[in-house]
Amino acid sequence: MARPTSATIHTDALRHNLSQVRARAPRSRVMAVVKADGYGHGLERVARALQGADAFGVAALSDAERLRAAGLSQPIVLLSGFDAADDLPQLRRLNVETVVHHATQLAMLEQAPDGDPIRCWLKVDSGMHRLGFAPEAVRDAYARMQAMPAVADGIVLMNHFASSDEFPDATGDGAQTKAQMRVFDDATAGLAGERSLANSAAVLGWPDAHADWVRPGGALYGISVVDGTTGADFDLRPAMTLGTRLIAVNRVRKGERIGYSATWTCPEDMPIGVAAIGYGDGYPRHTPSGTHVLLDGRPAPIVGRVSMDLMTLDLRGHPDAKPGDPVVLWGDGLPVETIAAAADTIGYELVCSITRRVRFVEA
Ligand SMILES: *Cc1c(COP(=O)(O)O)cnc(C)c1O
Repeated sequence: MARPTSATIHTDALRHNLSQVRARAPRSRVMAVVKADGYGHGLERVARALQGADAFGVAALSDAERLRAAGLSQPIVLLSGFDAADDLPQLRRLNVETVVHHATQLAMLEQAPDGDPIRCWLKVDSGMHRLGFAPEAVRDAYARMQAMPAVADGIVLMNHFASSDEFPDATGDGAQTKAQMRVFDDATAGLAGERSLANSAAVLGWPDAHADWVRPGGALYGISVVDGTTGADFDLRPAMTLGTRLIAVNRVRKGERIGYSATWTCPEDMPIGVAAIGYGDGYPRHTPSGTHVLLDGRPAPIVGRVSMDLMTLDLRGHPDAKPGDPVVLWGDGLPVETIAAAADTIGYELVCSITRRVRFVEA
């Protein structure tokens, strides 16, 4: 029998989430961010489901190549920008737009061979201090780009938020996002062009930042990064359900210890279930005992260490459980955000970490 571990991708949820984003940002165009293999959901599958988006955002030229090979003709934006002069002919061949965030890229664009002009998104570092031109360097970069034959008319001005998951009315009060919006506005005042500021959290919580283009990733997959919330709190639906099956149910005596390093001791004679999934599939190893899975639709706690291929479950609440019963690790009925909080990370990391041996199924 094939290994029963699978990731089901709900394409209807992807479409639903795109329509929720549109409803929240009705005056903005939507760049669907599909980097990291569509946040682990499968690049081509996700892009086909999200064909209604106005553009796709990727982090690698190879992703753009895959989207074009899959027959997708929407605009594509290379979010990390190109990093070598050799990339420019590729951008032209694939008709891909690029973020420009650094002086080295200006030099490469200035020396680009003749060819079709490339649409560019000029990135302002408004305070995150990852990519972008310093505010005081923006006007000069913009003027240089405007004069370059390799740069298409209609430069888009963008930034990226560091803390937009803190909403203006929440305890954090969103001071950093407010400051970033101010810095961006000042740095770009009077410059012609469309604007793009908002990632998913800003789509959900910062309507003033919606501007011409929103750039949601996580929200399209149904995942919230806002502390203490799940996608459902924003009418989003999970696009991935990670599932497997029980492959054993064993009686274990009181006082016996379960799994590697014997971290969990049976408080009584009890049934222990073994599910066919582990960190070799992408389920985080450091998830603590007591974190739930759904067994046949009802919660069952993990006990002991998660191992490479397997995990062990406390079946005291499931007296009739038997091998073959379905287990959901996250997704439908069990938010990935809940598991992520238990594993001290965010849902994005979990869905990006599914390994190649997991079978992907489209629903
Ligand atoms: C990843 C990314 C996004 C999407 O972020 P989410 O939090 O997933 O919505 C938007 N813009 C840029 C530049 C990104 O790198």
